[in-house]
Amino acid sequence: MKSGDFRAGSICPSCGKGKLRVKPGKRDLGPLLGLNEVTVKNLSVPACPACGAVLVPGDVLELVSLAIAGSMLTQAELEPIEVRFLRKLLEYTQAELAEHLGVDRATANRWEQEGGRMTGANSYALRSHVFMQLGKKAGPLFEAAEKSLKEHSAPRPAVPAYRTLDVERLRAA
Ligand SMILES: [Zn+2]
Repeated sequence: MKSGDFRAGSICPSCGKGKLRVKPGKRDLGPLLGLNEVTVKNLSVPACPACGAVLVPGDVLELVSLAIAGSMLTQAELEPIEVRFLRKLLEYTQAELAEHLGVDRATANRWEQEGGRMTGANSYALRSHVFMQLGKKAGPLFEAAEKSLKEHSAPRPAVPAYRTLDVERLRAA
């Protein structure tokens, strides 16, 4: 993951050749976040015209990550890449996640393997844990998550709600 506070006009840290340019618009931050697709609108971040590197400042990355997590916490089921995303957001190893959720390490490992989905009590336990750990930092970004954890979680939508985010709206939250 590349992040940092790079300015327009400075030399690209990725290729060392291009001069960074800030071009507002929408970008898919999915690959940067380890997810399939997350289109973020109204994003003004430095990008390199030579190699295509996009340098997302740490605070923007955190805002977007917490918004994505908030969206995931409303889903009853989690895909393996979503479990991995949430674990990394917690800054846990698989062993640490297993310990926090009271399962063995093989189980925690299996949650991140392609093919399965985390459902039921396991999903609820992970989502509640993320809420407890990051809720304070996320504030209003976890509002919908709080509601669905208290009441009942929505079935998993065909297209995750976090697929498209607007950074201006997240900032205004
Ligand atoms: Zn470059």
